[in-house]
Amino acid sequence: MRDDDYLIVGGGMAADAAAKGIRAVDDRGSIRMLCAEPDPPYKRPPLSKDLWTSDDSLDDIGLATDKKGVEIVRATRAASLDVATSKVTDQEGNTYRYRQLLLATGATPKRLPFGNDRVIYYRTREDYRRLRELADVGHHFLVIGGGFIGAEIAAGLCVNDKQVTMVFPEAAVCGLMLPPAFAAALNAYYEERGVTVVAGRKPSAIEAASDLLTIHLENGHTFSVDGAVAGIGVTPNTDLAAAAGLDVEDGIVVDERLRTKHPNVFAAGDAVRFYNPHLDARLRVEHEDNALSMGERAGRNMAGEEELYHHLPFFYSDLFDVGYEAVGLTDASLETVTDLKDPSEKGCIFYLQDERVRGVVFWNVFGKIDAGRELIAAPGPHNADGLRAWSKERLAG
Ligand code: FAD
Repeated sequence: MRDDDYLIVGGGMAADAAAKGIRAVDDRGSIRMLCAEPDPPYKRPPLSKDLWTSDDSLDDIGLATDKKGVEIVRATRAASLDVATSKVTDQEGNTYRYRQLLLATGATPKRLPFGNDRVIYYRTREDYRRLRELADVGHHFLVIGGGFIGAEIAAGLCVNDKQVTMVFPEAAVCGLMLPPAFAAALNAYYEERGVTVVAGRKPSAIEAASDLLTIHLENGHTFSVDGAVAGIGVTPNTDLAAAAGLDVEDGIVVDERLRTKHPNVFAAGDAVRFYNPHLDARLRVEHEDNALSMGERAGRNMAGEEELYHHLPFFYSDLFDVGYEAVGLTDASLETVTDLKDPSEKGCIFYLQDERVRGVVFWNVFGKIDAGRELIAAPGPHNADGLRAWSKERLAG
């Protein structure tokens, strides 16, 4: 039986950040990481950006976790956890004893009930390799989903001279986040760049015949593509925690120090539900800054610090020649105020509840996240004129 000071289940960005957090406090303790993927930790955001839009290759995205003296056990999935005896067992029956455990199990893409493995549910290095191989020979690609991943991968394929058809149930690209008029303008922006946007529709069946996939839409429309990639949301990986008796509510529940209800079991990243005092809400966040900041804080706390995780995470995206950074709640169902009409402009989208700003998207504006955090912390009341003046002043500065 292996016996370690620190055991990390999961091999993603939160796991890597936790290992670095542990090492910042404890340069001696043994750290072992069980990593279900065959690859050691790497940055996921480039999979839908830089690897399609720059000369970067898979060699550029590794996180060098092993340089921190971490024993990485690859292609190994933790199958069960016994918190009473502090033991994890993997799928081969090997057991690992720990003094402190981190669950950084991340999330798994949701799947359609058809299409089997011919649809690439885009999340991993392996998914990138598969899509790149198809893109090397194929021409026409279907992107299912108009959210964060779908919008990025559609742009990535398009700038690689692929014919791209996007299909999604919302009215427009990023329609769950952007206010309707601006999302409609983003739709037009995608179409101007050559993407065929089929909004308000879902596929109803996918048939595979040799190298081609035939796509059937709900409205009866049919077409063929060389490959299909989907980004239709993710489900947090909570089964291990739930089977061990830890609290799970669409995410592994942790306290403000990132402990589960068991004192030597912590959790961090996409899989976790946590309390955020700035929004006075319990959140589960599926973005890089949260995975990194929360992972590091969990690692430090595992090594003996007792700090609270009160970070309000931000996120970002790049879409063709435009991009944004965002912080807080950015849900199109909230009241919104914006000074933007066209995706080529610079400006802000504010999201309000009860006359208080709960989130800000900085469109084509970078490095202003702290100003957004200050606005979210302010008591309000906020109104449209005041927020547009704030935007004008801040973006000029
Ligand atoms: P994951 O990255 O999901 O890692 C969890 C790991 O644990 C996986 O390797 C999984 O296989 C493994 N695992 C699960 N269960 C077990 C088990 N039982 N035993 C062992 N291992 C297990 N965020 C942004 O803010 N901006 C972006 O531009 C951006 N771009 C993205 C692009 C893509 C293509 C993707 C997929 C995500 C992007 N994100 C972005 C989101 C960001 O990458 C994630 O929030 C972050 O990677 C989450 O890290 P994590 O470690 O919590 O989970």
